[in-house]
Amino acid sequence: MGFKIMPKAALPAWIDRLCADYRVVGPKPLHGQYIFGDIHSAEELALDYTTTVLPPKKYLLPPREELLRFEGSNAEPVIEEDAPPTVVLGVHTCDLHAIHLLDRVFEQGYADQHYRAHRENVVLVSIECLKPCSEHSFCKDMGTLSADEGFDLHLTDLGDDYAVDIGSEKGEALLEGLDAVRDATPEDYERVNHVMAEKWPRFPYRLEFDVTELPSLLAVSYHSEHWDELGERCLSCGMCTKVCPTCYCFNVVDEVDFTLSAGKRIRHWDSCQIDEFAVVAGGHNFRPTRAARQRHRFFRKGKYQWEAYGLLGCVGCGRCAQACLVHITPVDTFNELYRRRVLYTARRQEVHT
Ligand code: SF4
Ligand code: SF4
Repeated sequence: MGFKIMPKAALPAWIDRLCADYRVVGPKPLHGQYIFGDIHSAEELALDYTTTVLPPKKYLLPPREELLRFEGSNAEPVIEEDAPPTVVLGVHTCDLHAIHLLDRVFEQGYADQHYRAHRENVVLVSIECLKPCSEHSFCKDMGTLSADEGFDLHLTDLGDDYAVDIGSEKGEALLEGLDAVRDATPEDYERVNHVMAEKWPRFPYRLEFDVTELPSLLAVSYHSEHWDELGERCLSCGMCTKVCPTCYCFNVVDEVDFTLSAGKRIRHWDSCQIDEFAVVAGGHNFRPTRAARQRHRFFRKGKYQWEAYGLLGCVGCGRCAQACLVHITPVDTFNELYRRRVLYTARRQEVHT
């Protein structure tokens, strides 16, 4: 499938049409920030947003979700099969890469039927980022600054028009009957190339090493004193994981009614940074210090997910850096580990020469 061209003037009519057939969600302003929320007209939509407080992950893995209901010995899973199909508009490519990781996590081995139901019900319309969201973004380092796949439609802002890349039949169906949309000409492909060539220099590299070295850097940094330093600063508030598009740890609790014979099983987001996250039977906490939890968090991002799923667990969106009250950031952490490693290697070489 090739590019189409949609004039920006056609956007309001397109959104109106989508709203007639789908639940439509997208970025919108709220209290000086942006959130993903329900969209009822083009005026509400802010496609030129920076980043959202929470990622679009919430439509695939809701913060709180009923998994099953039970009464006596009968238990029925709760799957929202009749939920309206949802178009998620304006997904940044970092978040698209994060969804790609979540797909692997929830589809590998035992597929999660609740995640799958949400995923099949969602149509992703992503948008090319033409400038960094914030000083915390490091998507260029993490290889998520663009995307060739994973979207149903992908928009690139060409000024008066959007170039629309069609990634699937689900995406193509969103454009059906829109007279204003036309096939791209060779000149339009030139315009896309021009926009893409101009965008790359606007994004800085922020890591001091190549990201392919990250898993091995972490492997040799397991006993680094830097984890203790981070542990001394960390408040264990869990905000960094709550806003992260690739964090998916959850807790499952049963809410039983007062007869003790019926109730529901709920899954809700959890955080590995919270003190009691690793408490197991007998009250033992196998990750009791903030230092150990910080180390675990960054190992998940830069090593463990890579080993388990072939993808890094961080897409460089910068949300955690923005949310952290004590300014603990992935860029600073990874760069500090790298500097210490360089210093350590230099000292060893001195000793051996
Ligand atoms: S947001 Fe910052 S202070 Fe809170 S748990 Fe994460 S690293 Fe610690
Ligand atoms: S670890 Fe931070 S920068 Fe990386 S994906 Fe999560 S929120 Fe974004």
